[in-house]
Amino acid sequence: MILFDAIRHQEGVITVLRGAAASGRLAHAYLFWGPEGVGKTRTAQALAQLLLCSRPDPPCGSCSECERVARLTHPDLHCVLPGARGGSADERKQLEAFAADFFYVPQIPRNATISIERIRGLKLESSKARVRAGNRVIVIRNAGRMTHEAAQAALKIIEEPQPGTFLILTCRDPSRVLPTILSRCQRMRLRALPREYIEGTLIERLGLEAEVARFFAALAQGGLGRALALAESDARTARDRAIELFETPLGDAGEAARRAQALGRGWDAEAARMAGELLLTWYSDLLAVRHELPAERLTHGDRLPQLRRQAEQLSLAAIRRRIETVEEMLGALEQHVNPLLALQGALLRINGLVEADPPF
Ligand SMILES: [Zn+2]
Repeated sequence: MILFDAIRHQEGVITVLRGAAASGRLAHAYLFWGPEGVGKTRTAQALAQLLLCSRPDPPCGSCSECERVARLTHPDLHCVLPGARGGSADERKQLEAFAADFFYVPQIPRNATISIERIRGLKLESSKARVRAGNRVIVIRNAGRMTHEAAQAALKIIEEPQPGTFLILTCRDPSRVLPTILSRCQRMRLRALPREYIEGTLIERLGLEAEVARFFAALAQGGLGRALALAESDARTARDRAIELFETPLGDAGEAARRAQALGRGWDAEAARMAGELLLTWYSDLLAVRHELPAERLTHGDRLPQLRRQAEQLSLAAIRRRIETVEEMLGALEQHVNPLLALQGALLRINGLVEADPPF
């Protein structure tokens, strides 16, 4: 299989890469960046196929080099994923799953990093004679997760390139990558995927009903990987809980604290952020319903009767106040405000029980 041909909606980047290869102008270091699950690592693998294929007019997709790149077993292709300490077994497992399933998005533990040892290992590899007389490709996924020392070591590889060694970094947000590395990489942005494509893939792969697929596709904001992860994480239940939590009216001001306390540890910064993001899409649906946008345009089309009911009950000003309040709550979480406190403030404000700024 020619991997370039299987990647959807990244034609711009692929055309540039193939053109550069055809004219011998490929850079030695690339940074592919863009939302989660749009095909950054897959595009890196596809470029590796082009660089390692043994036939004229590469990639042919069928020689043994191309096949080994597709299976991620090529000895001159090195892939690095962030991992927990000593997590090489995890890395192997993730890469095997990635090779076996075209839509698989490697699962990276939240605090995982790329260690200096891992990059030193690569340096050793890249200074050794190659297994075959050809190129060598190093892919570093989530390059922003390199520790400072690891990033310095990676910089050395980039600054002193061995002929025929190509480095491809991927990340969501280039600002997380060391500026000295950024300035030496050719940056290529991979686009968010069209919502209809994500919907269609969810229906085909997971057998979801159209309106459920639409919900996850809308939440995922262009990342197929994120959509698949959301579909598996029961985001609909999280949505329903968030609406109940924020939209059940408070009896009195004291109830905000009681409601927050009842959640206790179940309401950490991550849960609060997820709820906040879900609520923002809910409130923007309320506005859309008030403006009589068609149901297909809604994120929460599966809750249309509930949306209509609430849109009738709330004034435009009340909906806007909710949006501002939740945005403020998300901002407070960014500033590491205690999530329970942030929730209390938001509940009081939504219920009109504070006139002044919320207590965070
Ligand atoms: Zn080939």
